[in-house]
Amino acid sequence: MHRDDLPLKDQAENICPRPDRMADQATWPMAAAIYPASVWACQSPDQALAILNGDADGYVYQRDRHPNADMLAEKCCGLHHSERSVITSSGMAAMSAALLSQVERGDHVVASSRLYGRSLTLLDAEASRLGIETSVVDTCDLAAVRDACHAKTRLIVAETISNPVLRVADIAGLANVARQCGAKLLIDNTFATPVLCRPRDLGADLVMESISKMMNGHSDVMLGVLCGQIADWQRVPLVVSAWGLASSPFDCWLATRGLATLPLRFERAADNAMQVARFLESHPSVKSVDYPGLESHPDHDLARQQFGDRFGSMVTFHLAGGREAATSLIQAVAQVPFSPSLGEVSTTLSHPESTSHRGHTPDELHAQGIDGGTIRLSVGVETIDFIVNALKRLASGG
Ligand SMILES: *Cc1c(COP(=O)(O)O)cnc(C)c1O
Repeated sequence: MHRDDLPLKDQAENICPRPDRMADQATWPMAAAIYPASVWACQSPDQALAILNGDADGYVYQRDRHPNADMLAEKCCGLHHSERSVITSSGMAAMSAALLSQVERGDHVVASSRLYGRSLTLLDAEASRLGIETSVVDTCDLAAVRDACHAKTRLIVAETISNPVLRVADIAGLANVARQCGAKLLIDNTFATPVLCRPRDLGADLVMESISKMMNGHSDVMLGVLCGQIADWQRVPLVVSAWGLASSPFDCWLATRGLATLPLRFERAADNAMQVARFLESHPSVKSVDYPGLESHPDHDLARQQFGDRFGSMVTFHLAGGREAATSLIQAVAQVPFSPSLGEVSTTLSHPESTSHRGHTPDELHAQGIDGGTIRLSVGVETIDFIVNALKRLASGG
């Protein structure tokens, strides 16, 4: 019986937010639908069983699968030339999914010493509680990576571009080492995005992105994605469902919308970043600038070979005046918010010593090229004049 055929009293007392089935329409919507349903109705026990076992296509429970995640995952598969993608509740959930699906108790992981702080905590401190041993090495040194590998090594983890001094990973080189050692290579591509680099084309087995950053680009979503090949995917769906790493439909819908402008946002931000790097290089208060597009960067040639003629949207610089100069700059440059994330449409800055690298000892900070005067810019899509004018206050600020 149709709702309208019910007596008025029943209609009022049985208000159900489930829409009636949409009649066939001659036209179709220009925006994707959001499916917030946590659970779907099934036709029969046989059908439910087949879908839940993964033997038939369909949806039953949101934590296992939902249409908004599928739509976003399909786009990520295309962007990263992958056979499989899974959307997770955060970038860290994508890293967890990679670890938990590829590695077991007694296995060994080799991780870059320059990984995102929480990734290092996960792979080093947390994984060791589960009986997984991790060696932390400088992955820019391929010989050191090879030396760290042994018979139990299953996973090598590095970032395409590291934080904050923007060292570039030799992905093809690392993939070679991984193959020789019988390990998989996982690349965190968050600072590069698939517009700059597709690690799978260079030999990486698995790629992850924090969609919370430039992939979405509007500071309103927390999501991650893991991409890979069918051969490495056996445990992934179960790990994501059982460890509770799944994504929210609304976040996936927003990120699908953000992703539509990724290439435009990226090109503009990378173009701005190159000009900002050159501006800072010539600034008297600035001791040095780290940007892979500058000839002075230690990985400039590798970056050129891997990325072509653009180098991403992140620029790091070091103020001669240390922490005090950084504090006055942050107060003077009001149009560039001190906001310790990255990849937004607007230009933001971060101060690694007090945020991302706060747990490091002075020696570790020194080894990573960080001091109190280190500022990391995430360059946005404003006009270059707006950004450079904002940064000009740097002179009066310190
Ligand atoms: C932010 C970030 C992550 C973690 O992503 P979340 O979405 O914040 O969980 C991992 N790697 C890098 C390089 C990041 O910048």
